[in-house]
Amino acid sequence: TNFFSDVDLSPPIEVFALTQAYNDDPHPNKVNLGVGAYRTDEGKPWVLPVVKTVENQMAADPTLNHEYLPIAGLTDYVNASIRLLLGADSPAIAQNRVDGCQGIGGTGCIRVGLDFLYKIIGCRVVYVSTPTWGNHKGISKAIGYDVREYRYWDNDKRGLNFEGYINDLKAAPSGAVVLLHTCAHNPTGVDPSKEQWAKLAEVIKEKHLFPFFDCAYQGFATGNLEADAWPVRYFVEQGFELLCAQSYSKNFGLYNERTGNLTFVSSSSDVCMKVKSQIKTIIRQTWSNSPNHGCRIVSTVLNNPSFYEEWSRDVKTMAERILLMRQRLHEKLKALGTPGNWDHIVKQIGMFSYTGLNPRQVDFLVKQYHIFLLKSGRINMCALTTKNLDYVANAIHEAVT
Ligand code: PMP
Repeated sequence: TNFFSDVDLSPPIEVFALTQAYNDDPHPNKVNLGVGAYRTDEGKPWVLPVVKTVENQMAADPTLNHEYLPIAGLTDYVNASIRLLLGADSPAIAQNRVDGCQGIGGTGCIRVGLDFLYKIIGCRVVYVSTPTWGNHKGISKAIGYDVREYRYWDNDKRGLNFEGYINDLKAAPSGAVVLLHTCAHNPTGVDPSKEQWAKLAEVIKEKHLFPFFDCAYQGFATGNLEADAWPVRYFVEQGFELLCAQSYSKNFGLYNERTGNLTFVSSSSDVCMKVKSQIKTIIRQTWSNSPNHGCRIVSTVLNNPSFYEEWSRDVKTMAERILLMRQRLHEKLKALGTPGNWDHIVKQIGMFSYTGLNPRQVDFLVKQYHIFLLKSGRINMCALTTKNLDYVANAIHEAVT
């Protein structure tokens, strides 16, 4: 008579379990290098000033209400997101063969995009990088995909295994989806060069693979929003049809507002309209329609030149603080004479560094120093502050020697 009594315990999600362990730890010097969220030099979350300004305006606006949004979301938001991604002067926009739907964070957009490719296009195989953001595999498996990996990280080199990457794509079956990190790859902080992207595009075209970009860190790689979107723009220029899941969690600091956009580029405006109708149907059956708050903030900022200017500066502020922490950690480890080469700390880009610390060293940091980080050795660079940097550097030194 019991339905639930045989249910097995589902494994915990590492990054959330880590935050829980950090919160529960009473140690005064504890540091959480796990979760991928921006922190100020005081170690605090940052509500972007421009976000606060818009929220105050919204609170005072008598015309706003809590009616349902359309299934595809706020049109001004979707269009501004597409311009941010492809550039306002993109020929594909002028040709009316790009559109998008608002989604529940980057995650929701990846889910709906992969659902669409599986159910409507008939794709069955998806390729993800080794390593990748864990949820790429989770979402793909939940849909029923055969999940395969392309080589990405070369541990000896502490850099990109480009040859492995390209060879794995060459061996992929026609019609497979390839999940690509647009920029600031999570967790490695290593992106292909423009030349390498061009070669990848050739193979993807030749082998008839489908490019699905995950754009969760626009602005965090170079500090420049336009520059960071280059890979997607290049693929569009090369005539690809593609999907792109955009997230504003990081670059707007809107983590819990679930603010995303699924952009699709197709071959004609007629095809685009049909694709949109199918994606809307999937959204209707999944979450029916999207939340308003975060997307209205983003839309207001993106559609107002002076807010936009302010936001680009905020993004730069975040990117630059991360860069500074990279330099400081690198300098400190060199000054300590920590064994090994730590140049990858400054070469890697975006929010994370893939330190190369092994599970034993990670365990040592957690147990001896109350420094919490993922088993893979990935650390969130902006969890470092001018106050905890020496403590963390010394601990890493101890862990390695
Ligand atoms: N893709 C990557 C690579 C990410 O790192 C993240 C967030 N950690 C996401 C997608 C999902 O972002 P969101 O929180 O907007 O769902």
